[in-house]
Amino acid sequence: MADSAVLVINSGSSSLKYQLVDPDSGTARATGNVESIGEPSSRVGDHEEALRLAFEHLAEGGIDLKSCGLLAVGHRVVHGGNKFHAPTLVDDAVLADLDGLSELAPLHNPPAVQGIKVARKLLPGVPHVAVFDTAFFHDLPPAAATYAIDRDLAERWQIRRYGFHGTSHRYVSEQAAAFLGRPRGGLKQIVLHLGNGASASAIAGNRPIDTSMGLTPLEGLVMGTRSGDIDPGVIGYLWRTAKMGVDEIESMLNHRSGVWGLAGERDFRKLRAMIESGDSAAQLGYSVFIHRLRKYIGAYLAVLGHTDVISFTAGIGENDPAVRRDAVAGMEELGIVLDQARNLGAGKGARQISADGSPITVLVVPTDEELAIARDCVSLLGRGS
Ligand code: ADP
Repeated sequence: MADSAVLVINSGSSSLKYQLVDPDSGTARATGNVESIGEPSSRVGDHEEALRLAFEHLAEGGIDLKSCGLLAVGHRVVHGGNKFHAPTLVDDAVLADLDGLSELAPLHNPPAVQGIKVARKLLPGVPHVAVFDTAFFHDLPPAAATYAIDRDLAERWQIRRYGFHGTSHRYVSEQAAAFLGRPRGGLKQIVLHLGNGASASAIAGNRPIDTSMGLTPLEGLVMGTRSGDIDPGVIGYLWRTAKMGVDEIESMLNHRSGVWGLAGERDFRKLRAMIESGDSAAQLGYSVFIHRLRKYIGAYLAVLGHTDVISFTAGIGENDPAVRRDAVAGMEELGIVLDQARNLGAGKGARQISADGSPITVLVVPTDEELAIARDCVSLLGRGS
């Protein structure tokens, strides 16, 4: 069979991650990350230079984008707003609509739009597809999607709970079903995506019925540098008393909070070493992270009523056995019984970490957002992989 490939681009404010994926085999043919875009000391001035550099790296690895069977470029876009809830072929009108969503996701959407513009310029002969982090959660039940605030105001400004990391929650829930050898439609699942950004979802059959992120990716779990849930009263209080501006408060909640805000470190490998050396701030940061995670697990067990499987995924979820242990410790009466030896064991691919008799199966399921995006592109373009 001829080679086929999808170039997946995840364009952030100062980084451009790329991966050339073979959608049929599911393997990454090349992967890279151009960092420090636009920073004073960097030689990469903007996203166009970053993408050219990515092409150079691919060429150095022997990959010529013109002859590698490139089917599409898939762009990860964080916020689809009310308008986009499925993978979408990008044209000028779509790009203009995406630009219009930047207010909803000022941190995330503008660099994605920039990435799309640059990629369309440098790769004009290939279809470009936008895949949205919010899409999977578009049909959340109204009870989960609605904030209890003034309805007219919410409607006017499109304020609802959108949810994010949807590509990962969908992919992992499909992988979990495949691992169990059961159709996803018959399963009730909790997915815990624990990376620098972290989110939880409750999925009944093929449909998510709740998720922890909201209008923005700030809500929910404690994250690397984001606070997650916080009393909204804190914002007005800081504004009035500390005389902080709203941008400053938002920046603090997004970039100087979470585990990093409490412990001065967000990498869980280093955090563990700090805890072991007796660092009380690291211990507190970890405890607050775990406490919030346990609350969401409890909430989603209640929301689902019955749960078949809980999956841990992303950097922390896949690699940190202590987090997995502490997240569900003492929940035997709720139906969760870990096998501690399995939890400590390593391994590639999806694996079970619950005891064989555990009423709820607990899995570690590696996420692969790039592959999911690549396959979305292929199915949109009608090649069906
Ligand atoms: P992102 O949200 O940036 O995609 P990832 O899913 O790659 O994040 O997760 C990155 C985080 O995963 C790191 O900051 C670190 O805290 C954690 N992590 C990665 N490897 C390990 C490990 N071996 N043990 C514990 N934590 C890890």
